[in-house]
Amino acid sequence: MSSEFEITILASGSKGNAAVIRAGEQAFLVDVGISCRQLTERLHQAGMKPEDLTGVLLTHEHNDHVKGLPVFCRKYRLPVFANERTWQYMPKKSEMERSCCRLLPKKLSSGSLEIIPFAVPHDAASTVGYVFKSGGSKCTYLTDVGFVTDEVRQNIADADVVVLEANHDEDMLKNGSYPQILKQRILGTRGHLSNVSAAWLLAHMERLPEEVFLAHLSQENNLPSLALQTVRGILDANEVGADTKIYITSQENIVKNYD
Ligand SMILES: [Zn+2]
Ligand SMILES: [Zn+2]
Repeated sequence: MSSEFEITILASGSKGNAAVIRAGEQAFLVDVGISCRQLTERLHQAGMKPEDLTGVLLTHEHNDHVKGLPVFCRKYRLPVFANERTWQYMPKKSEMERSCCRLLPKKLSSGSLEIIPFAVPHDAASTVGYVFKSGGSKCTYLTDVGFVTDEVRQNIADADVVVLEANHDEDMLKNGSYPQILKQRILGTRGHLSNVSAAWLLAHMERLPEEVFLAHLSQENNLPSLALQTVRGILDANEVGADTKIYITSQENIVKNYD
C-alpha cells in the first residue's frame, strides 16, 4: 500500500455505519451507527481499542450513523465533531455527554493529519463528506449522497483512497418491494447514490484512486457482486482504473486495506 491511510470499515449499510481512518498516530472514527458493544467488539477484532481513537467525526444524524453514539460517548469520552445543524437535529441529544460534543471546524488539524468536511446533498439537516490529508496522500469519505455535485467532484479529485457510496442497483430498486415513496426518496437528489452513479463519478476522475471501498450497499436493492461488476464494467468500458483496487464493504464483515 503506498497511501498513508489505513482504512477499517467496521460496518456499512442501512443498518449501521462505522469506519476508522488512520494515518500514523491519528485515528478517527467516522460515524457510530452500530451499538457501543458491537463497535467495541469489532474494533478489537480489527486489532484496535476505543482508547486508540483520536476522535469521532459524524456525517449526519440519521440513525444508521449515530445509533451507538450516546453510550459510546459516555463510556469513552472522546471528542465528537459534527456541524451545528447536525447537533441541532441529533436524536437522543439529551443522552449525550455534553463535554464530548464539539463543533466541526472548517478544517481540523490533528498531528500531521488534516480533515476537511464538505457539504453533500442528502435528506438530513446538513450532511457532510470528509477529506483527509496526510503526508501528501488524500482520502475522501463519501456516503449518503443524493447526487454528484461540483463540490463532491472537487473533493474526490486526486484522492488516493476513496470510501464511496454504491447504494443500489436502479433496476433492483425500481422492481423491488420498497413502497413507492421510499423508492422516490432513494432515487431523488437527496437520497442515495446508485452503483452506476458511483461508477461514473470514478470514471470521470482525472486520476483514478489506488483504492476504492464501495460502501452503504443496500441489502434489499443491491448485491456485492453486482455493485463490483457494475463499477468495474463502467471503468473497463472507459479504459480507466485497471490498477484501482476495489473493496466491497458490508454490514457483517470488517473490511480493511492493510494487514
Ligand atoms: Zn442518511
Ligand atoms: Zn445512511
